[in-house]
Amino acid sequence: MNSNIIFTDKQNATVSLASSIYKTTCPYCGVGCGVSTTVVDNKIVAVKGDENHPSNFGRLCVKGSSLHETVADTGRILTPKVFGKQASWEEATSTVAEHFKQTIAEHGPDSVAFYVSGQILTEDYYVVNKLMKGFIGSANVDTNSRLCMASASVAHKRAFGEDAVPGCYEDLEQAEVIFIVGSNPAYAHPIVYQRIVKAKENNPQLKVVVIDPRATATSKNADLHIKLKPGSDAFYFNGLLAYLAENNAIDTDYIEQHCLGYSEALDTVKSQMPTLENVAKACDIKLKTLLESYQLFAQHKKVVSMFSMGINQSSSGVDKGNAIINCHLASGKIGYVGAGPFSITGQPNAMGGREVGGLANQLAGHMHFENPNEIDLVQRFWNAPKMAQKQGLKAVDMFDAVNSGKIKAIWIIATNPVVSMPNANLVKKALQKCPMVVVSESYESAETVNYADVVLPATTWGEKEGMVTSSERTISLQKSLVRAPGMAKNDWEIVTLVAQKMEFSDAFTYKHAHDIFKEHAALSGFENISADENMHRSGTEGSVHRAFDISGLANLSLDEYLNFTPTPWPINAENPKGTKRLFTQGGFATKTGKANFVPVVAKYPQVVPSAKQVIMNTGRIRDQWHTMTRTGRVPKLMTHLSEPFIQINAKDAKRLNVVDKALLQLDNLGSTYIGRAQITDEQRVGEIFVPIHWNDSFSKSAKVSALISSITDALSGQPEFKQCPVNISAFNAKWSGYLVSTMPVKLTTDYWTMATIEQGVKYVIADKQGLPYCADDSETFLQTHFPEISDWLVLKDDKSHILRIAGFVNNVLTCFFAGGTDLSVKYSTQFIEKQIGKKHNPKTRFKLLSALDSDGSLDVGEIICSCFQVGEKTIKQAIASGDCSSVEALGKQLKCGTNCGSCIPELKAFISS
Ligand code: SF4
Repeated sequence: MNSNIIFTDKQNATVSLASSIYKTTCPYCGVGCGVSTTVVDNKIVAVKGDENHPSNFGRLCVKGSSLHETVADTGRILTPKVFGKQASWEEATSTVAEHFKQTIAEHGPDSVAFYVSGQILTEDYYVVNKLMKGFIGSANVDTNSRLCMASASVAHKRAFGEDAVPGCYEDLEQAEVIFIVGSNPAYAHPIVYQRIVKAKENNPQLKVVVIDPRATATSKNADLHIKLKPGSDAFYFNGLLAYLAENNAIDTDYIEQHCLGYSEALDTVKSQMPTLENVAKACDIKLKTLLESYQLFAQHKKVVSMFSMGINQSSSGVDKGNAIINCHLASGKIGYVGAGPFSITGQPNAMGGREVGGLANQLAGHMHFENPNEIDLVQRFWNAPKMAQKQGLKAVDMFDAVNSGKIKAIWIIATNPVVSMPNANLVKKALQKCPMVVVSESYESAETVNYADVVLPATTWGEKEGMVTSSERTISLQKSLVRAPGMAKNDWEIVTLVAQKMEFSDAFTYKHAHDIFKEHAALSGFENISADENMHRSGTEGSVHRAFDISGLANLSLDEYLNFTPTPWPINAENPKGTKRLFTQGGFATKTGKANFVPVVAKYPQVVPSAKQVIMNTGRIRDQWHTMTRTGRVPKLMTHLSEPFIQINAKDAKRLNVVDKALLQLDNLGSTYIGRAQITDEQRVGEIFVPIHWNDSFSKSAKVSALISSITDALSGQPEFKQCPVNISAFNAKWSGYLVSTMPVKLTTDYWTMATIEQGVKYVIADKQGLPYCADDSETFLQTHFPEISDWLVLKDDKSHILRIAGFVNNVLTCFFAGGTDLSVKYSTQFIEKQIGKKHNPKTRFKLLSALDSDGSLDVGEIICSCFQVGEKTIKQAIASGDCSSVEALGKQLKCGTNCGSCIPELKAFISS
């Protein structure tokens, strides 16, 4: 759709530019929201929710609604680089192809690997997987989705015969009870969470039970919070299975018609935990609370159990997933409106990656290495000369193999493993040793780029085109809206160029992502038998039914592809308009057509903390995404939480003799994390919570993955990110302060953390050495960082050891430092942030050294509503004045919570406190 937009330029002249509205899909979490973009003059100038998209119906969370602010040419990788030197595409792709070919010739196909991402598009994934598994002859393709949902994927396969989510978001709205397990959707999947909140408003009878060791924005609005012992989820759901059996809540007809293995599963549960008292003890919760939640599950027909990382990121994550699914199969609560187990994925295209076989243990099109017929089927379809015959190395094993020298060439695409992998420092060492590291990446700030021999500039959201699949199986198009900067190319294009140079030209002739998608769709239907045929066929030969069938899209025209309407798979002759729910008549993708109960022996996390250690839980915060390469560029997304933190119970804080907002230090595996203490009763004693996002680009020591051991689930290979014992101590700073600057600098203090602001950057600093206060130290402290500044203004307060320094270039405030030895001082930077980069009259600029505006009115406290920059102090004042006793009233007066709604849980907490 085209229209005209009127802008006012700097001279106040009006300028009219043609604008176009395009629909696309958000590239962040697995909710898969539709986005409507306004594009003017090759720039995305505005975004809003797509009202017709079935995931979000017009809403976007704060990350989604800031998408246009992340699209900028600054900080982008613009040209290929080979061994540190700029290169042409011809040289770069030839170098990669030659190195891969030579390595394979000398050391075999398993000496090379791809490590890709749940954020690349289905077509990118498909080409990588085809090259590796069909033409190189190895299955060493894995993805950062291994860190996210690999356990759920295996649990689905064991129970349903296929990695398939049975239900859809609508089930959450239609349910009578929702169990949210190991998940904080208010922060991690905000739009799905808002759909739940809305459903509860519409139906106050809807009960929400949150199962999570910590209190979160999600649990605060729940009817029941089961604050169970970390990692005890399988005990809880095994206990539920026993409860259902003992309380006449089993659907025996359903089990008889559609399932196998019920008795074995129940016997396993009973032999491990004969009584429900045992279960309550194992979960460290009251029996009364346990029974209350079990009753809710048993007494309602429409129950959805939504689960994510708290279940998956565990050394027994697959079993936990199956313990949940067992309860739904046993009670027949699956395959109809408002019921079912529901794994919700973290990444935008984790599901699409699984469809093409982007994990090392999968083949393409939801087929597997365990079935020789399926290997043969894929080989025939691709006409593949060298088909992989066995699973490849999963992420942790893959980087171990790089470290041991078994893998000699690795190509990393759109992911940042030196930040996100467990034991991340080992990944660094492994990449340093590896003879050939190729990195396809969009952003210079992705740390992994520093370890690359060949850097390939890749397009990113808004520039590239292709499909993604959401957590509810809905396929949507991410659209190319603007030209890519520099020489950036699409990932599928880069891999195709290299495949052609490896002499596989005939099989890699793609000219557009559309060509790839059609091939992917055709493979999904190739020799795929229907669920009905599967149930009634005789013998076990041949390929089984695959629920993943999008053969209805195999002949999509380019125009239809570019205007694709979001549709849930299967999409085939039987269901041309897509399928909301799977397994509505049973018809599972097993050889028998029946679902499997899996006997689960519940287990705790593998490593037990010592008396001095705490158990570290990790997770996302509301406004940031992964390693911040994209969201860290947007000032308003840094205002809600701008510093790495450690949530800790008051008893533990007392033991460590630290106060709220003091710095704490965590140590494990020779690595350190420093974060600000948030003392809260949200944490159980002996347990802490730490965000996953910060890394060496944004903080001195806050890369949490470096502290996490590489313990994985034996079946899924997913690391145990959620329950890692670590040492904890007070940081014991001598002074603290902040530095606001128009440009980034390299600090050497023992602690610093950086946040992007409108006019530059802000650092919060602390150090274990004395304040650079005495003699000339104070000025040289900043002069070394800002050699171009000679115009300094210094204020020292001898008594209270306060130091403030302002640096000017041509009267423009270029940097400002404030620090002191009183660690209890809470610095507000809001006034100085507004002054930085502005001219200041020499006569009046002394006033700046107060670091406050005259009435302090700019200090609105910690930003709660990122969309409208409404601070904690403003909100509290409005509530205290008596004018605002509801979220709606706050919204009316201050606008907070009226755009994306991500801050509503916090607004509710302020009102009820
Ligand atoms: Fe994007 Fe937010 Fe929707 Fe997730 S919930 S897809 S981050 S807009």
